[in-house]
Amino acid sequence: MNQEELFKKIISHAKEYGFIFPSSEVYDGLAAVYDYGQLGSLLKNNIREYWWKSMVQLHENIVGIDSAIFMHPSIWKASGHVDAFNDPLIDNKDSKKRYRADVLIEEHLAKIEDKINKEVEKAAKRFGETFDSAMFISTNPRVVEYKNKLESIKTRFAKALNENNLADVKTIIEEEGIACPVSGTRNWTDVRQFNLMFSTQMGSVTDDAGTIFLRPETAQGIFVNFLNVYKTGRMKIPFGIAQTGKAFRNEIVARQFIFRMREFEQMEMQFFVKPGEEMKWFEYWKATRKKWHLSLGIPESKYRFHDHEKLAHYANAATDIEFEFPFGFKELEGIHSRTDFDLNQHQKFSGKKLQYFDSETNESYVPYVVETSIGLDRTFLAILSYAYSEEKLEDGSERMVLRIPPVLSPIKVAVLPLVKRDGMPEKAHEIMDVLKLDFMCQYDEKDTVGRRYRRQDAIGTPYCITIDQQTFEDNTVTIRERDSMKQERIPVSQISNLVLEKLHIKNLLSHN
Ligand code: ATP
Repeated sequence: MNQEELFKKIISHAKEYGFIFPSSEVYDGLAAVYDYGQLGSLLKNNIREYWWKSMVQLHENIVGIDSAIFMHPSIWKASGHVDAFNDPLIDNKDSKKRYRADVLIEEHLAKIEDKINKEVEKAAKRFGETFDSAMFISTNPRVVEYKNKLESIKTRFAKALNENNLADVKTIIEEEGIACPVSGTRNWTDVRQFNLMFSTQMGSVTDDAGTIFLRPETAQGIFVNFLNVYKTGRMKIPFGIAQTGKAFRNEIVARQFIFRMREFEQMEMQFFVKPGEEMKWFEYWKATRKKWHLSLGIPESKYRFHDHEKLAHYANAATDIEFEFPFGFKELEGIHSRTDFDLNQHQKFSGKKLQYFDSETNESYVPYVVETSIGLDRTFLAILSYAYSEEKLEDGSERMVLRIPPVLSPIKVAVLPLVKRDGMPEKAHEIMDVLKLDFMCQYDEKDTVGRRYRRQDAIGTPYCITIDQQTFEDNTVTIRERDSMKQERIPVSQISNLVLEKLHIKNLLSHN
């Protein structure tokens, strides 16, 4: 199965089992907006809870807030979003399809990188154990040519973006012969900037004064509450403020399922530090966030850091944690050293002092900020695409199993009476009434028990409990584990403890 097929399967699986539905589907959907279904909302809550606990509960010096989506319009002037939250767009005149010009170039660069990797792989096979890849990369004429080309496009592209030179962005697309994937032609319009913020009207005034924006990031809600939290929470630098919540962006291209949506959810944390110490904290948060990802049990090879070539107007260092989605390595989380840009801007625009008083040195200063910003939906997609697996079993049959990290699974225990009679359903409900005090359970009595196991595998349920005749004799049940499919008999009184021990969130938190 190639990656494109895999991605399609994941999308249809997510719909078929109640994880994710297209928004407004009875009206044929709304582009790049999705709804989370009965299982998807549970998984999403669990991911959010894990992030929240690892930030707020595990760090004595991080607190959480929940700021409003609507904010004073001047905030977006101050933050630079009104003037600069733009993406460069370009249209293909033949297909009439719209693209982000920067994404077209980045995808072109990725293709060149692929070519280099293929050359290296080929040579490694040819030379066997004696192969020295660093030597090969620095001397093989074809690879050197690709590398030089890559570097020169990267440098030129970063310069064009930094100088907002849209004509040169177009020239790069033309000179590199980048074609529209739909029409296959190179018939492009000029590159234009497009602001990604949604606006709406507040109150009964319909002129400009009543225009407000739907927040395109949750971070600004943290900055404008800096003083409130610092004073009321008696916080001492370094300290952090975390929040999760909806953000809205009028994305130009939105074709990758929940990877890029117009309404999505972010989990952000702003860490306020003493000026001059930001690089130390930048490195700290890079390492800490990587650990968080790895604690999910997803292999390290699925992640990589990608340092920014073009720094945003507010940053002095920035990196992305990229994940290998079915459509390649893409940004999952951003870690940015934002300097004192935001607080300074809000001081300027609000006329209020947003400073920290250091009682040891008797000095006031505007703190620097290191932020970690991760998309909840993208994390959901990363977990789902890693978890989706089709297995061949020893007996030759196949099973589809979602290997979601068990602590995050939407349903923790399925309770199954072996048959729909002889008092088994009643007994099963009796057991479930106790278990549901501790975790999400699902009762299922339809079809053979084998088919029910498969249905639970397909939604990632870590444990199935089966009630049979023996349960009435010795008060034991069969417990089946999702990944190994191993079954054992245990007393009813031990189910809760066993499952709690395996699925308590502390099993993940302790790896942070
Ligand atoms: P991209 O380059 O992919 O547009 P970005 O660099 O603009 O992303 P940030 O502004 O750094 O993204 O936002 C932080 C995080 O929010 C991203 O790492 C991503 O996980 C998430 N995110 C951003 N835009 C979207 C979107 N349209 N849909 C879903 N998640 C998003």
